Amino acid sequence: MAGIYVHIPFCKSKCSYCDFASFPDKLCFAESYMACVYREMAMRESELKNYVFDTLYIGGGTPSVIDEKYIAMLVAAVGKHFKLSPDAEITIEMNPGTVSSGKIALYEKSGINRFSVGLQSAVDSQLEDIGRVHNLKDFLNCAKLLKGKNFNADVMLGLKNQTCADVEKTITVAAEAGASHISMYALSVEDGTPIYTDYLNGELPDSDEVAAMYAAGTGKLAELGFERYEVSNFCKKGAESRHNLNYWRRGEYIGFGVSASSCINNVRFTNTFDLDEYFKCILSGHLAVKDREEIDKTGQEEEFIMLALRTSRGLDLKEFEKLFNENFLDKYAIALQKVTGYIEVNDGFLKIKDRFLFIQNSIIVEFLQAV
Ligand code: SF4
Repeated sequence: MAGIYVHIPFCKSKCSYCDFASFPDKLCFAESYMACVYREMAMRESELKNYVFDTLYIGGGTPSVIDEKYIAMLVAAVGKHFKLSPDAEITIEMNPGTVSSGKIALYEKSGINRFSVGLQSAVDSQLEDIGRVHNLKDFLNCAKLLKGKNFNADVMLGLKNQTCADVEKTITVAAEAGASHISMYALSVEDGTPIYTDYLNGELPDSDEVAAMYAAGTGKLAELGFERYEVSNFCKKGAESRHNLNYWRRGEYIGFGVSASSCINNVRFTNTFDLDEYFKCILSGHLAVKDREEIDKTGQEEEFIMLALRTSRGLDLKEFEKLFNENFLDKYAIALQKVTGYIEVNDGFLKIKDRFLFIQNSIIVEFLQAV
C-alpha cells in the first residue's frame, strides 16, 4: 500500500498554536504555488511509475481556502502522473469557515470521497481564544453540507479553560452532525507560537487534566458507537482513514509541496519549509528536498514497533518475523516482563491494553531501549 500527500500552505489567519507551514498573508501566490506542485509531480513521475497509490490526502494549511478549481486540477494532475487505484481514498482537509455547497460539489466531481473538518471545540470562546476563523455555527453549516458523506471531525484537548464536559459536548456535536470519524488530539505547545506564553503562565490544563479529558472523550466516543483504532483516532465501523493506516503500518508515501514528507524505499525525505525556496527550486527544475535520511534495519525496526503499538490492532508478530528474521517475543523477553501488566497477546498480535493506550510512549520506550 502507498499514499500521496499534498500540502496546501495557505490559511485565512494563523492560529495561536500553529507550528505548521502555513502562510496566511501569501494566499495571492496560490495559483503559482499549485503550478509548482503540478511540476513537482511531473519531476517524480518516472521514479514512481511502478507504484499504485491507494490514497491521496490533500492537507495543510487549509486546502479549502484556495479556489476549488485548483483542487480539481490537482486531483487530475495526480491521475495524469501516477497510478491511483480505482477505489482510492481521496481526502481533503477543510476549515468550516471556508466551505460552500459549490466547493463540495466540485470536490466530489473531481473524485474526492472523504472530508476532514477542523472542528477543534464546540465552545466558541475556546475557538476564538486559539484564533480559529470559525465558530460552532460555521461547523454546523459545514456538517449540513456534508450530510451523508464520509467525514472526519478534529477535536482538540488541553485548551485554556476547557473541561471534560466541553470535550464530551464537542464529541456529541460532531457525532450528531454526522461525522463517521473523530480524531481527538492533545494540544501540542511549541516554542515560538503565541500560545507558548499561556503555557509559560500556567494557563493551560496540565497533563493530568488532559489525561482526564482524554478518558472522558474516549468514554463518550464509545457510548456513541465510535471504535478506537489508534490512540487518537476513532470511527464508525469501516470508516478508518486508509491514508493514516498506511503511515502506521510503515507503508510508503510521497509528499508534494512545501514541508511535505515522504518515505520511499526506506529513505525518508522532507521538502523545505520555506515557501520562497520551494518556488526557486521547482522553477529552476530541481526538487525542493531539504532533509534526507536512509533508514537502516535498526531504524526500520524501531519505527515498526513504535507505529504498530499506537494502534488498537497492535503489532503483527508474524509480520515482524518476516521483516526482521527474529521472533519478537524472544528478542524482547526482558522488555516484555517490565511492561507485562500493560500489554496483551491475542491471535498473533501484541497490543497495549486499551486503557493504557494514552500512556503508550512510556511503554513503547521499554522496547526501543532493547532494539
Ligand atoms: S488552520 Fe491549521 S494550518 Fe492553518 S493556521 Fe490554523 S492550525 Fe495552522
